[in-house]
Amino acid sequence: MSLHGETVALSGVRKSFGDLVAVDGVSFEVPAGSFFSLLGPSGCGKSTTLRMIAGFEAPDEGDIIIGDQNVVPLAASRRPTAMVFQNYALFPHMTVGQNVAYGLNVRRMKKADVRERVRHVLERVDMAAFEDTPVPSLSGGQQQRVALARAVAVEPQVILFDEPLSNLDVALRQQTRKELKALQKDIGLTSLYVTHDQEEAMAMSDQVAVMRAGRVVQIGRPETLYMEPETAFVASFLGGANILVDPADGVRLTGFEPDTGHVVSVRAEDVVLRDDGHRARVVGRQFLGHVTELDIEVDGIALRMRVPGMAPDEAELRVAVKAYRSLPNDL
Ligand code: ATP
Repeated sequence: MSLHGETVALSGVRKSFGDLVAVDGVSFEVPAGSFFSLLGPSGCGKSTTLRMIAGFEAPDEGDIIIGDQNVVPLAASRRPTAMVFQNYALFPHMTVGQNVAYGLNVRRMKKADVRERVRHVLERVDMAAFEDTPVPSLSGGQQQRVALARAVAVEPQVILFDEPLSNLDVALRQQTRKELKALQKDIGLTSLYVTHDQEEAMAMSDQVAVMRAGRVVQIGRPETLYMEPETAFVASFLGGANILVDPADGVRLTGFEPDTGHVVSVRAEDVVLRDDGHRARVVGRQFLGHVTELDIEVDGIALRMRVPGMAPDEAELRVAVKAYRSLPNDL
């Protein structure tokens, strides 16, 4: 079984449902074999974008090129893509092996070849011992791996994930995302991953496209998006930064006067304790082990700060802003 990814390139892709513009001119390029996430709040058009790549929705405008082929005229079944859904969409009355074999039988592959392929992909996802197990007796993480095996079995060039981990609890989610990422690297398929969870997108992706209201706001490596957000939306959605929309607040805290149409953005870890700083009233406190998150109020301005380890257990602290950026206000 030889698998290798292809590049995926979208250019000027649009899709409306009645009056609602769900995807409003989206363009991006995913290098072959890489892991690319579409990240954004609910309703921003991520799933619709993914479904257009899969062929479950037709774009009103624009091209979707996989390798060197424009796939827009092709039916979903003829595209070199496979999708892993949020709820896995496994057949509950079938065994693991029957689930993985399903797409191969639909394609009328010879029985002996099906058996061979099923065994091979189940080995790859470390589920060979479960071939005859009924799906309902598997854990969420195991079902996730079977869903991946079933998608990979049909030898796609591109694998599409629509929030595949959102049904798992937090601990299992973290473990499964590591496994999924390792498997993706091992198998080498181009992967497009839809999520509204910024931590998940950052942890897994080579590149992330941040979407908002049907458009891509910024594309980049997770580190770049976090360190160098281009707009207030990216800083707040991806980095959880404090956004000071009122220029007067920005001036009071940093001494810097933003241009018209700009905000001052301050990351929570850049608000630091300092003896000669502003007086801050502590209104909330969350100890997270390696850091403590504090909700504070400085001169009527609500801010979030992140202190390494434990924070002083006091109702009033002195704080200063260590670093900030001025960003266009797209909120
Ligand atoms: P979520 O994370 O909630 O799934 P999303 O970013 O994936 O959000 P989409 O599912 O792509 O967003 O939806 C974008 C917009 O298009 C939403 O306003 C949604 O209600 C609308 N929409 C999606 N599919 C359809 C459809 N088949 N008919 C009508 N409206 C739709």
